[in-house]
Amino acid sequence: MLPIKHQFHLPKDMIYLDGNSLGPLPVAALKQTAAVIQDQWGEHLITGWNRDGWMQQPGSLGNALAPIIGASNDTIMVGDTLSIKVFQAVSAALSLRPDRRVVLSDSGNFPTDLYMAEGLMSHINGDYELKIVDPEEVRDAIDESVAVVMLTHIDYRTGRMHDMQNITAAAHQAGAVMLWDLAHSAGAVVVDVEACGCEFAVGCTYKYLNAGPGAPAFIYARPDIADQVQPILSGWLGHDAPFAFEPQYRPGQQMERFRVGTPPVIQMAVLESALAVWQGISMHDVRQRSVELSELFIQLVEQRCPSLELVSPRNSAERGSQVSFAFENGYAAMQALIDRKVIGDFRQPNLMRFGFTPLYTDEHDVTQAVDVLADVIENRLWDNPIYLTVKAVT
Ligand SMILES: *Cc1c(COP(=O)(O)O)cnc(C)c1O
Repeated sequence: MLPIKHQFHLPKDMIYLDGNSLGPLPVAALKQTAAVIQDQWGEHLITGWNRDGWMQQPGSLGNALAPIIGASNDTIMVGDTLSIKVFQAVSAALSLRPDRRVVLSDSGNFPTDLYMAEGLMSHINGDYELKIVDPEEVRDAIDESVAVVMLTHIDYRTGRMHDMQNITAAAHQAGAVMLWDLAHSAGAVVVDVEACGCEFAVGCTYKYLNAGPGAPAFIYARPDIADQVQPILSGWLGHDAPFAFEPQYRPGQQMERFRVGTPPVIQMAVLESALAVWQGISMHDVRQRSVELSELFIQLVEQRCPSLELVSPRNSAERGSQVSFAFENGYAAMQALIDRKVIGDFRQPNLMRFGFTPLYTDEHDVTQAVDVLADVIENRLWDNPIYLTVKAVT
């Protein structure tokens, strides 16, 4: 039964509605990570690679993550950052369609995904084009010139959600490869990568999966194509025999070739604890609670703060697990909220963003958050010079 708040460390009196950006600390991670540092690194040193299975972790944690996004064993590799996994995936996807030149994405995509695709295309031969259309236009823009359709499933600003099944089918119909970024989906909504049949999916683990700042990302490749990919980041740990130290690169089998270099063992330990929390949790239950909490929030905010305008889709079937409202003084209002221990965040130009994470959020949190928000808006508490200076991280 949700929530399972006791499994997380949540600062006293704080209402945390920003788990879509950085999840809270799973309590078990404190002890378990300390044990890895003290007992494994401290006592075993280099022998930990064999003795403590450090080298297998990127694959075994991929297996722990797999059920959350509807994947099977040995189809996910964990490591690096999401930006890097996007780079690998776009390159892999392009290599499957050597005679096509277009990467199709949408204007709702997160900038780093677009930047990484752009950087890749400017460094490989051929006149590649990154075509960016409005999210609603994606389906119609898929044609036989498109090598890869690269989309983020849930828009980081508005929470608008693409239909994975439908768009993947359209991509395949036109002979294109489908790449989904699940940064705001894994652990947030029901995802079934296998049923949708996409070739690649990537995502991060520090948002809804709660593995901590800078936690490793993941990449999924459909088993029938994983072996066809010539990796662009041909690091030694993706080699078929890393410890043969051959002068020439030979890609490892299946997902092994998506490894690059030495895994961050300590961060992997946090991820292991974070993923253990999900055992026995049904994504359908999480989704149902997320919709209930989001609907309650929207209803209360619209009742009590009429100057805020809902920019997320009103239909919950088209929305992820976050709700955004536009407000002219959104930045200052969010600062005032944070000062009162209700944590959401702000995205340009005027969006106040709130994430709903049923593992540790309940109705009481939602009603309390709206009480504070209504106070900030009705009494113009945001209209204070201390809230108007924009900080480096919003
Ligand atoms: C959060 C997020 C990222 C972040 O990438 P990092 O390399 O982990 O900094 C990338 N893409 C999307 C869609 C995101 O939501």
